[in-house]
Amino acid sequence: FRHGEASEVVVNTPNEDVVFGEHHSLVIVAGPCSVENEEMIVETARRVKAAGAKFLRGGAYKPRTSPYAFQGHGESALELLAKAREVSGLGIITEVMDGGDLEKIAEVADMIQVGARNMQNFSLLKQVGSQSKPVLLKRGMAATIEDWLMAAEYILAAGNPNVILCERGIRTFDRQYTRNTLDLSVVPVLRKLTHLPIMIDPSHGVGWSEFVPSMAMAAIAAGTDSLMIEVHPNPAKALSDGPQSLTPDRFDKLMSELAVIGKVM
Ligand code: PEP
Ligand code: MN
Repeated sequence: FRHGEASEVVVNTPNEDVVFGEHHSLVIVAGPCSVENEEMIVETARRVKAAGAKFLRGGAYKPRTSPYAFQGHGESALELLAKAREVSGLGIITEVMDGGDLEKIAEVADMIQVGARNMQNFSLLKQVGSQSKPVLLKRGMAATIEDWLMAAEYILAAGNPNVILCERGIRTFDRQYTRNTLDLSVVPVLRKLTHLPIMIDPSHGVGWSEFVPSMAMAAIAAGTDSLMIEVHPNPAKALSDGPQSLTPDRFDKLMSELAVIGKVM
């Protein structure tokens, strides 16, 4: 069980230091699943920043189920993220899949994401633990809470204390109407078990944009420290995860709804 106070994870972004933690305001992370081109990533950055997000999250290296699906633009997408960072002042979060890419990702990213599929890639966990950028550790789709906390422990044990835990839904038996089952019970459970900050990702959690706002509200009611929401300027044309992505207009509306119930930073 947890001993002592909640940890704060401070992330340096171009305009400000953003603090994640139990005793701080809700932090909103938003952006497309994949960085597709300069126009869309810069437009998304502008729109989510105007709505109150603190981070732009977009994938350069994508862990796709099929090897024939879009795999992300890789290094050129990192350059586009750097550009979006510069024009918007938002912090950048992007995923590492291969430890060999870590150094160049860390040049652009203010926080490094380890995705659900790599949650127990222990050598990758040791590598992100041996560098200084904060790490966003998503829960594996079939990981128990114990598995997840031990994965976080790999990062902490390697010397990096700045870890945020992100629930993104687990596999259960119904995949007809929801992509995953968003396990919001982790919020009070993690609060009891760990000092680390908590993020909820309702987009991957439910898989359909129409259900995302309700679950974002529910996550706040449960006491989450932060939210990750997928936003795309044209979800119908997205190269990945279009069905679960909000339009910028819908995201604006969600942000004003959230402001009524949560303390958005
Ligand atoms: C993502 O964040 O776009 C992603 C691939 O998430 P997850 O690892 O949770 O599936
Ligand atoms: Mn996605």
